[in-house]
Amino acid sequence: MRSFSKTINTLLAAAFAGLLTISAAIAEPPPIQDPSSEEDVIAALYGGVSGDRWKEGLLFEGVRPMPWLKSAANWFPGTEEVQPEEMRVTFMGTSPSIRPGQMNTSIFVELGNGDKFVFDMGEGAVSNYVAARVALNELNHVFLTHLHVDHFGSLPYLWMFGTWAGGWHENLTVHGPSGRTPDYGTKTMVEGMKMMLGWHKDAFSVFPVGKGWDIQVNEFDFRDNGGTVYEKNGVKVIHWQRSHAKDGASGYRLDWNGMCFVWTGDGRPSKLDIRYAKGCDLYVTEMQAELIEISSGVQGVPPFLGRYTVDTHHTPAYAAGYLANQIKPRMFMTTHMAFDPYQNEESVAEVREHWKGPFHFGAPDGIVVNMTKDLVWVREGILPDFPNNRSPQFDFSNGQLVVPLPPTSREEIQEPFVREQQIDPKLYYPEGYHPHLLEDWPVTSDLVVPLDDLPENLKGSMGEAWRLKQKNLKALEEKSE
Ligand SMILES: [Zn+2]
Ligand SMILES: [Zn+2]
Repeated sequence: MRSFSKTINTLLAAAFAGLLTISAAIAEPPPIQDPSSEEDVIAALYGGVSGDRWKEGLLFEGVRPMPWLKSAANWFPGTEEVQPEEMRVTFMGTSPSIRPGQMNTSIFVELGNGDKFVFDMGEGAVSNYVAARVALNELNHVFLTHLHVDHFGSLPYLWMFGTWAGGWHENLTVHGPSGRTPDYGTKTMVEGMKMMLGWHKDAFSVFPVGKGWDIQVNEFDFRDNGGTVYEKNGVKVIHWQRSHAKDGASGYRLDWNGMCFVWTGDGRPSKLDIRYAKGCDLYVTEMQAELIEISSGVQGVPPFLGRYTVDTHHTPAYAAGYLANQIKPRMFMTTHMAFDPYQNEESVAEVREHWKGPFHFGAPDGIVVNMTKDLVWVREGILPDFPNNRSPQFDFSNGQLVVPLPPTSREEIQEPFVREQQIDPKLYYPEGYHPHLLEDWPVTSDLVVPLDDLPENLKGSMGEAWRLKQKNLKALEEKSE
């Protein structure tokens, strides 16, 4: 029969086996009865199901959980590995108005070949990456759709603390559009950020930084519609212009392994979106519900300001549905929206005016999409409020951990007076407790440690992503042979 009934049979067999084991320990085993007829078993266990999946909603064509998901209802960070052929997309920030359950926009794309990409890095979104157990030094490619601060506000933190937390061996590369003049391009924004972070960067130079400070900018010509932004390891990212009041705003499409993901960034609905996103598997656009009079009251935005902002900058929900119906993705999602009960139903109704296919909100923060060529599934991720950083993740292919020599020392960047005012540790540490203080960097050149000499816990925790990548690459290679 079908795989569904096979699963049921397996479950029943496992349950019976369990019963037998338990009953062996009980003095009086339950009596064995005559089994029911096959028809009765099927009639009861398959009640309501005609032997195949029934079809009564909009989601069922290829929309269902994969067998490797630990829970079909929720994603718990750190419990599931991205599969070799899989694309996993997580909404790390979902609103233009930052608030505790919705940080500013950011979408994280993880591929089965081990590659990881960040699309926009709005204010506060970095906290959700931490909660999702992503090490900051795993985030080496950030694609900015445009330079509104709700799309790049976490970048300074990522650069500084990502470097501190092990971003020593790979550059952080910021991909983003040019502007009509150089002043308005991504390069200039990054130059400005460097200036803003001057003190912080020099202060953090007492730590190992390696390549970390050497931030790269890949600025593309915003007018070069369909042009390639990135192409490596079978991954290709292209861009196109979006109408978002000012030149430079761009949409992105990522293709890998016969699957495609689109993030439009902000903008008015456009023919270019249809051209470049057509037929994409996962199409994500921003969306504003057509509820200006009410929402402006709720959000404290005067109606004329709300209306003017949407009509010059954004995609109304009706238009989002219209675009989806032109593009016909396997899964349509909307983000960069207030996730509020009073407007969620309304948003769905407006999208449904045109789009009758699979649809989910890419909001609030933590929504996760698992996607293969055949299946797609959307769940709520459970992100803790007080997570701790994941260990830095290193590529151990060379069999070594290399800790670069810090470029500077306290002596070089701090006058002696204030250090001399520090209280003698003997005065506050209790009798008999004398920690070995690291007041100076303990070595005078790069520290190179063979993998075998690393304590097991460091080797394991720092190499998790690398080992998964090796495993997945091997599986992909074997499949292609
Ligand atoms: Zn925005
Ligand atoms: Zn914007």
